[in-house]
Amino acid sequence: MQINKIGTLYVVATPIGNLQDMTLRAIEVLKSVDRIAAEDTRHSTPLLNHFSIKKPTISLHEFNERKRIAEIIALLQEGESIALISDAGTPLISDPGFPLIREAKASGIQVVPVPGACAAIAALSACGLPTDKFVFEGFLPAKPEGRRHRLAALRHETRTIVFYEAPHRLLSTLQSMAEELGAERQVVVARELTKMYESIRSGTATELITHFVAHEKEQRGEVVLIVHGADEVSESKEVKTEKVLELLLNELPLKQAVLLASKITGERKNVLYESALQRTNRSR
Ligand code: SAM
Repeated sequence: MQINKIGTLYVVATPIGNLQDMTLRAIEVLKSVDRIAAEDTRHSTPLLNHFSIKKPTISLHEFNERKRIAEIIALLQEGESIALISDAGTPLISDPGFPLIREAKASGIQVVPVPGACAAIAALSACGLPTDKFVFEGFLPAKPEGRRHRLAALRHETRTIVFYEAPHRLLSTLQSMAEELGAERQVVVARELTKMYESIRSGTATELITHFVAHEKEQRGEVVLIVHGADEVSESKEVKTEKVLELLLNELPLKQAVLLASKITGERKNVLYESALQRTNRSR
């Protein structure tokens, strides 16, 4: 009786623009596996052809992920080794794959990372903002309202914050950043990393808007946005502001409390109004 050895699932990073960023190990692993699970098999064909990798592919994207998992797990359990790749960079980083990896691990399948390019890490490494502590936020909500709320929730985050963004939302996201994080906050726009027109530009959100409006062509291309964390001093100022607001809310109607808190602390009324609303909702 032949007992099948369970296969291994490799999570393989591919380049984010520059083919020379493909690692030797990525090529070796992709050539050695039985099958490649790709986010978009048509998109990955030129990359695989470039490195003479000829393997059967299976698609695993956002819309068929759940259905495909059972199929891929079954193949692994039959002894196949499979490599997961996404359209660019590291799978699972704002890309499909998490449910598959979770299921594979739950099924006792060995999952092996094959590291390489990742736009967030590449941008961080060259942006000039602190990298000792950072948070990765992925994509902000597409709708302006949701985007503003998320940014408002991050106002006091002291770690460097990394966002992915679609090019057509670059200007409106920078605008929301200026409004929600304050006019002085340093932002870096890392564009077209590893490609011919790569650029890494820093400034306040307003300065960056001025630049990108004047250089319309640069509004195109892939971007990572990196935001300096809130400084500790402004955090403690925020804590004081919140205390003033809380005390006034205990004594006065909401509108009056907001108005007075704004006069005392210098904080904008709409910021205090939102905070006051959250407090009253919480205490209901
Ligand atoms: N998994 C990928 C990674 O490891 O970076 C990210 C995939 S996510 C769907 C695509 C987003 O990553 C883009 O919208 C952009 O924000 C960022 N991105 C990818 N390649 C980039 C590049 N060459 N330069 C700047 N940003 C890039």
